[in-house]
Formats: sequence, structure tokens, C-alpha cells
Amino acid sequence: MSNIMFFCIPAHGHTNPTIGVVRELVKLGHCVRYYSFTEFQEKIEAAGAEFVACDSYLPPAPDDLDEKVGKDFASLIEMVADTTIALDPLVKEDIAAFHPDCIISDSVCFWGKLFAWKYQIPFVCSTTTMAFNQHTAKLMKQSFTEIIRMFTGMPRIQKKMEYLRQNGYQIENFVSIIQNDNETNTIVYTSSRFQPMAETFSKRYLFAGPSVAETSIVPICPTSARKKRPQIYVSLGTVLNNNIEFYRNCIKAFSEIDCQVVLSVGKNTDLSKLGEIPAYFTVLPYVNQLEVLAKSDVFVTHCGMNSVQESLYLGVPMVLFPQHSEEYAVAHRAEELGTGVRIKRASVKTLKKAVQEVIKNPQYKKNAMEMRENFMQCAGPAGAAAWIEKVIPQKEEKAEAEDDRAL
Ligand code: UDP
Repeated sequence: MSNIMFFCIPAHGHTNPTIGVVRELVKLGHCVRYYSFTEFQEKIEAAGAEFVACDSYLPPAPDDLDEKVGKDFASLIEMVADTTIALDPLVKEDIAAFHPDCIISDSVCFWGKLFAWKYQIPFVCSTTTMAFNQHTAKLMKQSFTEIIRMFTGMPRIQKKMEYLRQNGYQIENFVSIIQNDNETNTIVYTSSRFQPMAETFSKRYLFAGPSVAETSIVPICPTSARKKRPQIYVSLGTVLNNNIEFYRNCIKAFSEIDCQVVLSVGKNTDLSKLGEIPAYFTVLPYVNQLEVLAKSDVFVTHCGMNSVQESLYLGVPMVLFPQHSEEYAVAHRAEELGTGVRIKRASVKTLKKAVQEVIKNPQYKKNAMEMRENFMQCAGPAGAAAWIEKVIPQKEEKAEAEDDRAL
């Protein structure tokens, strides 16, 4: 039995795929202590892990968070450094008492990786996005503004690197924090087919396939067997989802089609600003996405990695409307595999046309079903847990490493 510390950022998209793996690790008899945020406590505890709340260690979110997500690199590094230093005393104490055999941390929850380095604990990276290296980086379209921001932010980044070094973190440079290298054991929650340039990653990468928790809700049946009208599901995910104009355009576009619609608009969207909503529309701040997808014929998505994979896992073709860097890469791959139609602008006309095209042309559904088959053949959460067991150093190796440290 091993003791495992798990670290993640406060984001559904990064937490959800880990839940199945945690559940499987616990089933295998391992003890998992999961450092996360109160919003996720229930699902983490339900998976059998011990939950540690990190909410009070995060610096306050800036007012313009929506502007900064995925764009302002210097702010991200500042937040990471401050969170690392704030959490350090707690984690240090826990390491002394819990004796972790391994730290598993989300690929963008850099403080997990920094603790593993500082306290010399074997590290496993958990990647809920596409795996990222110098080859795949080219697929992430960075806007001019993002590049400018990155350069102007360099002095702020260097300052925080120095702050970390003064606190015992031996970091070469900020790139070493953010990059996934070929030496680190890394779980990626997609298949090697969906991952672009999978061949450029080493054997230390496990492409485990999407980790979709509620597999029991999967009725893959054609529309005609279920109902007469096709169902359109719309979501911009859980982060940058306050986009009134987009929802209004969806309502207008889909009210001109004979269909039923479910719109998940996020918890910060003011429903009163959406205008008149036709009777066959269901508009909610949050839905059980897997349940809704299982009954849908087309998914209009922002192309978050999880949303796209959940859609393909349930064989649902998509209208792809990416908003920033990583989502462009996901949309590009989904389009390349013929599983959806990509739109650049979400006008009433383009939304209507794209949805009609996906419903009318059976090839999109066929391709989505093929990806479903591909995902089904992956290791999944159980395979990922078994793989983690294998890569965690065994007791004898651990004793040797401790002896080496003592010398
Ligand atoms: N999600 C959900 N209900 C909603 C909207 C989203 O359950 O109404 C879940 C969805 O199933 C997925 C996650 O939230 O697992 C969103 O992750 P994704 O990577 O797609 O996008 P993000 O929210 O990180 O932008």
C-alpha cells in the first residue's frame, strides 16, 4: 500500500478526470490525500480520498480574471509562486507525518511539482489537457497580445523565480516549471489517437483515454429511437462562460430549427439578459453534462478538452467554437478527425448552418462513434491506477533513495 499526495487547481476540467483514477487507487488499497478546493470536496471524498482544503492559501483572484485566464502568463507564475510559498509549511508538516511515496499533480498545478522537487518525492504528472512539448506547442495559436504580454511580464516572472529560490526551490528557470519533459511519468487523459504527435512523447507517457466517471449512463441510440426532435446541447464550459451575446445568438438560431435545446450557461450568467426563451429550451447554470450529452445529437462546445472528449466518449458530434490557445488545438484535432464542424464566429447564421450540417450529415456521427470505440480500448482509470502502482518506487528502492539522501 502506498501513500499518495494529489494536487490540483480549482477547475472542474482539471479535477473531473482525476476522480476515476483516485477511486481506482483507493480500491487497490492506496491512501490518497487530495489537496484541492471546497467546491470539489464532495466528489473527492466520494472517490475515497482524504480531502485537504487549499482555499485559504490561494491569493485573491484579480477583478479581471476572465481577461487573464490562459493569456496572462506573468500573473499565472505570480499566483503559482505565492500559492507554493503559502502552502509550503502545511505540506512540509504533512510530508513528515504522512510519508508520501509519490506526489501526483495536475500539469498546471505547478506547486505539486515544486513540492515533489523540494522534498525529493517521486513525481507523477496528471495531464487533463493535450500533452504538451516543443512539437505540439506549434499547434497552440498564441495571439499577438498574448506574446506581448509574455515579454512585458518577464521581469515579474524573474522576481518570483528568485522568491522561490530564496525559499529552497532550486529552479533553473520558469520553463522548467511549465514544461512536460520526456523523463517524467505522465498520465494523459486521452488516447494516443486523439493526442496530436503522440509519437513525439516517450514511453513514460500513458495515454490512458478519457476518464469519464459515470459510464453507466451511456445509452448510445440513434435520435429516431429516442424522440422525434434532435437535441442540441450548448456549453462554454465552467470558466469563461459569461457570454450573453453567444447565448442570445444560440437562442435565436436554434429557435428557427425543429429541435429541443439544453443550454448550460454558467453560474455567473444573468438569465434575465437572455431575452425570451422558447418553451422547448432548457436553460440552466449547470447541468450533469454526461447525462445531457447521452441524450443529445449535437454539442455546441467551447472545445475544453473534457467537453470534447466526453462528447466523443458518448459518440456525439460537435459544433466547435474554441476561444483560446488550448481550445484551438482541441478543436483542430476534433475537426481533423471529422467529428465536428468548426466555426470562427458565433453569429446566428453560422450557428444555425453548422448545427444543421452536423445533424444532416451522418458522417460526423459515424466519426464520433469511431472515436468512442477508440476511447473504449484505452486503459481508462483502472489502467491508469495500475500504471501508477508500477511507477511508484517500491519499498526497497525507497529505502535506497533515503540512504543516498542521508549520505
Ligand atoms: N460540466 C458539467 N456541467 C456543465 C458544464 C460543464 O458537468 O454544465 C463539466 C464537463 O462535463 C467537464 C467540465 O465541466 O467535465 C468542463 O471541462 P472542460 O475541460 O470542457 O472546460 P473548462 O470548464 O475547463 O473550460
